[in-house]
Amino acid sequence: MTEKKIQNTVRPPKFVHQEQWEGYTYKPWLKKDKKNVTVMFNFLERRKSYFLAAYFHRKKINFIDMGDHVKEDVTYGKLYGNRMECNPMYFTSGSMIRNLLKIEKETGLSKEEISKRYIFLCGGGQCGPCRYGMYPQEYLKVANEAGFKDFRVLIFSSDLGKVPGSKQHAFKFDLPFRINMGIALILADLMHAAECSLRAYAVNRKEAEAELDKADKMIRKAFESRLYLWTLPRMLKKIGKMFADIPLRDEQLPLIYVTGEFFANLAHNDGNYHLRRFITDEGCEVIPGSFTQRTLYDNWRRTVEAKRGIKYASDPEEIAFFEKSLKKQRTSTKVITYFYNKYVAALNPAAYRSRTELMDMDTLAELARKHYHPEIFGGEGNLEIAEAIHLAQEDAIDGFISSKPFGCMPSSGVSDGVQAKVLSMFPELNFLSIETSGDNDVSILSRVSMLLLKAKQRHAAKRNALTPMEQVVSAEAEAEDAVAKRGEQFA
Ligand code: SF4
Repeated sequence: MTEKKIQNTVRPPKFVHQEQWEGYTYKPWLKKDKKNVTVMFNFLERRKSYFLAAYFHRKKINFIDMGDHVKEDVTYGKLYGNRMECNPMYFTSGSMIRNLLKIEKETGLSKEEISKRYIFLCGGGQCGPCRYGMYPQEYLKVANEAGFKDFRVLIFSSDLGKVPGSKQHAFKFDLPFRINMGIALILADLMHAAECSLRAYAVNRKEAEAELDKADKMIRKAFESRLYLWTLPRMLKKIGKMFADIPLRDEQLPLIYVTGEFFANLAHNDGNYHLRRFITDEGCEVIPGSFTQRTLYDNWRRTVEAKRGIKYASDPEEIAFFEKSLKKQRTSTKVITYFYNKYVAALNPAAYRSRTELMDMDTLAELARKHYHPEIFGGEGNLEIAEAIHLAQEDAIDGFISSKPFGCMPSSGVSDGVQAKVLSMFPELNFLSIETSGDNDVSILSRVSMLLLKAKQRHAAKRNALTPMEQVVSAEAEAEDAVAKRGEQFA
């Protein structure tokens, strides 16, 4: 059949969503409009956005901290989003829509007016064998489909909504913002680590939780100060002493490690069924999830990419590009490590049994190399495999959970496949892989409960490996401890 005949026989579709193929565009947010626009955001879990809000408060930028993701967000994300996205996409875009609809209800503004007056700050746009590169356009699709035509987003590391070279943008991802963002994430990590140990070991959990809430507010206040570089360490020292005064139980609970795709691992809310809180409630200690660690992995990955780029560059311009990138990653790693160590020293987490150690990226890469080449990037790269090998070799934990979102390519599709090999090498690793979908809590958490039961048995077996004399001494010490604690409660 000739080309002309084919064209005549093919009927054009009734509806063509042209923007979906060509990409949505919108007007940039410019300085002259700065005061009329409100920035909406939430990052993974409530503490991160709560602390970052200090920056917006200081800069006098209107903002809405959207707080934690909730189950309902997945429904909104699915309603307006493309099919077969990964579940962090549904959670984050759904959260944006839920909040936009809330604004519409509360203010009575039209959708058109809301699109002009609000902007969504989020991550996305970094490409790779994962859907993260599709996030910016997907946010715009979801907003437009929900009726918020020409809604705008501010995306880290993306040119979307920017006029190249223009100095008129109302908001810039400049160095001060990046430093503040880094500090907010570190602070959220350290408070999360404190929560993991205090909820597990505090004699009175309710009191410990009240102290944690108080500490969050103290940090936010110190971070709102223009002198935050000085006020924060002083405040953290005070908080560290406050936590150290919380009475803790003197015992070691079964220890559980959680890893996985970064949203499913670090959401600490409906995004991962409050997984770490559930584990603590079930009578185990859980190792905290660290966004700082994940950021250091990203820097490590880009450093490796830059070194490879320099090695294979075809001209001096390319060499200069990768050298600049290399310098940037090294500086960023130094700054993050500096603030992390400084704040850890101020808190003194060992005094309240909090685990804040960071793992070395080169060591992890070498551990994984044979099974998951560390230069295969995307998602969490070699991390999940390396962590499993490291912890199995050390025999340091009683249970290992790998949590990944429904529809995740690198974590479910690749890491879990390689994990089968790791398990054949270390069959004693009490391993469970779960896929978070935003619903199905009962089924997922009952599987986690089975792993925890096994972890408890394993923990008890390790303790029973003591010599008979050691067992008697240990049992006597436990009994004395219990009597003393009961006495304290009734005093
Ligand atoms: S790592 Fe997986 S869940 Fe995360 S953005 Fe990529 S595809 Fe989605």
